[in-house]
Amino acid sequence: MRIVMKFGGTSVGSAERIREAARLAVASAAQGHQVVVVTSAMSGVTNSLIAAAQAAAKGQWDQSVAVTLLERHSSAAAALAPTTDRAAEATAVIATRVDRFEKLCYGLSMVHELTPRLLDAISGTGEMLAAPLVAAAIASFGKTSQAVDATRVVVTTDQFGGAEPLMNETREKAAGLLRPMLEAGEIPVVTGFIGATADGVLTTLGRGGSDYSASIVGAALDADEVWIWTDVDGVMTANPQEVPSARTLPEISYSEASELAYYGAKVLHYKTILPAFRQRIPVRILNSFNPTHPGTRVTVEGHPSATGVKAVTSIRGVSLIALSGTGMQGIPGIVAKAFDVVASEQANVLMISQASSENNICFVISSAEAARVVKALKVALEVELLRGHIEEIAEQPVAVVAAIGDKMRGTPGIAATVFGALGAATINVIAI
Ligand code: ASP
Ligand code: MG
Repeated sequence: MRIVMKFGGTSVGSAERIREAARLAVASAAQGHQVVVVTSAMSGVTNSLIAAAQAAAKGQWDQSVAVTLLERHSSAAAALAPTTDRAAEATAVIATRVDRFEKLCYGLSMVHELTPRLLDAISGTGEMLAAPLVAAAIASFGKTSQAVDATRVVVTTDQFGGAEPLMNETREKAAGLLRPMLEAGEIPVVTGFIGATADGVLTTLGRGGSDYSASIVGAALDADEVWIWTDVDGVMTANPQEVPSARTLPEISYSEASELAYYGAKVLHYKTILPAFRQRIPVRILNSFNPTHPGTRVTVEGHPSATGVKAVTSIRGVSLIALSGTGMQGIPGIVAKAFDVVASEQANVLMISQASSENNICFVISSAEAARVVKALKVALEVELLRGHIEEIAEQPVAVVAAIGDKMRGTPGIAATVFGALGAATINVIAI
């Protein structure tokens, strides 16, 4: 098989974790698989890079960030590399990149203008520091490995901070650069999170984007599977902190995975799976801290459960915004206006419902955005409020509970079970 393996920040968070990640990659290669590794930055690094950039933009440039980064990565290089030459080589690459980061921040502290393009150049440094370490660790297991900057593989749009892959171009680059390495029996280590425009300008795929990178590289190389090594045993039936009896789901469908992500399970971002999904490439979620656990497979069929419901999630920190008034009936423009406001405030709508009387529409957004959206709604709908078409625009904090499962469609009685459970817990249902 051809496997693209992604290691998240905690899975490469220290020299020991990187050694374990390397061992896992080498073990699969030893079974005859072609393996491409995609790595995140070491845990916490991306946050510290972004914080440094933001501080520098305010004129505060503190060199200690660069010193800490250099220390953390070069000591890992010394611990991991198979030879002193290789350690020196990795350390030199790391030093060059930390130096570049330092210069960017220094410049920023002079000009005080943090553009999305510059933020990408800075925040993408973490993966470029981690990849040489992972490659060195793989080499210490006797396998040829080199770090590959994704700027040479993943071609993206120029939406800095949230670039989208251009798959045809990426496929061509992956074929030119990664395939020959695989055919020579090497394990390339590609930086997650970053890419470059067709002109070669560094971009990032958005926070948490390394999973997306893995799925993009997997699709570009026609991989047989994409493995996401993280720090939990796959996707669970519920949040184990809230539901102690929660267990790992052995298999879910792509659509269940995206619903789960949408409704609060922090396992895979919905966008992440798309490139793999389009090519029907199964995605496995595995625990690098518990590698013998089979984890969860995300597939087309998803192994439907007999009862219909696969998982239950909940989201807190959200608010219900309700527009109500008997005068809203039959006045078509109000809904359009309301959602125009929501869009221009860039608030993400989690769910919408409307009373069949049309006297009330409500939707759920993040509480952090609620006050701003209500204020903007009151301005935009001033005339409707004055005329009494709308009587009230109200906001209240709520929680969203979602029951998820492909098989729920066409299985009667699930709603009754859900509402029965909520009723028994004396939870009032506000919207469905
Ligand atoms: N290092 C990036 C981040 O923290 C990407 C990732 O870890 O997936 O957002
Ligand atoms: Mg991460």
